[in-house]
Amino acid sequence: MSATLPDLESTVSEIADEMRARSDRGAVAHYIPELARVDAKHFGIAVIAADGTVACGGDSDMPFSIQSVSKVFTLTLALGRYGDRLWRRVGREPSGSPFNSIVQLEREQGIPRNPFINAGAIAVTDMILSGHQPREALGEILSFMRFLADDTDVIIDEAVAASEQRTGFRNAALANYMKSFGVLDNPVELTLGVYFHQCAIAMSCKQLAMAGRFLAQSGCHPKTGLQVIQPERARRINAVMLTCGHYDGSGEFAYRVGLPGKSGVGGGILAIAPGKASIAVWSPGLDAAGNSHLGRVALEALSKRMNWSIFGA
Ligand code: GLN
Repeated sequence: MSATLPDLESTVSEIADEMRARSDRGAVAHYIPELARVDAKHFGIAVIAADGTVACGGDSDMPFSIQSVSKVFTLTLALGRYGDRLWRRVGREPSGSPFNSIVQLEREQGIPRNPFINAGAIAVTDMILSGHQPREALGEILSFMRFLADDTDVIIDEAVAASEQRTGFRNAALANYMKSFGVLDNPVELTLGVYFHQCAIAMSCKQLAMAGRFLAQSGCHPKTGLQVIQPERARRINAVMLTCGHYDGSGEFAYRVGLPGKSGVGGGILAIAPGKASIAVWSPGLDAAGNSHLGRVALEALSKRMNWSIFGA
């Protein structure tokens, strides 16, 4: 006999209250000046259950910079266009290195370890850009987000994009290095322009959790019933999120939370409880690996209380 699970809505609001009371928040990302201005005190959470129940707490309606969470959606788009050919350009193994590491690229002939570290995501964006103008590629990414979230209000924060464009020297190094191996097809500055703008998409926890529903529901978009991707592909994207979604903090996230998840340096995390829920949390303070500190703490509490770990009770 399984124990009765707590009510989702009260659990989520309890967790939001607990997070509000905590003082350990980590540090906001400083290397993108526009993100350094965000108040570390924010905390938001939104959970969309498989039956459509929406449970929210804290600043769940406040838009934040989704940053690397965007990489889940660009991977989905690029897999749709290229299928398994995508894996010739980028691997799918955990990197065990920081998100912006350069050293691995040299050892591995410019092929990034996975699509979620910066180098891998830049390579995926380059594939989306091929055959298009940057504006069209960005339009495709933004329309996809709006469709998935059922919300035409999702926008790109131009100030954040410009801020990263001015200071993204490390990403420029990664992109140039890959270009030297022929891993990028387009001019580096165009690929980076699209990448910085996709990272600057602003969404609230509620919008992001809505956008993630297809990954919790075997690839199906619940509102339209459209199969965004086949169930097998949804399963595989979740697998890559579990193993690579938190960079060199992926093992710790799997250990503590037990769900596929993708973080961003804006402090957001999208987590998927397959068959059960799509979850977005936001707390701008980061841990040493660049993942939201309280976001992870909140997800750990949620997955434990709802018994959602994919590894069992
Ligand atoms: N735009 C950020 C960067 O490229 C994304 C990194 C992240 O969210 N981990 O550095």
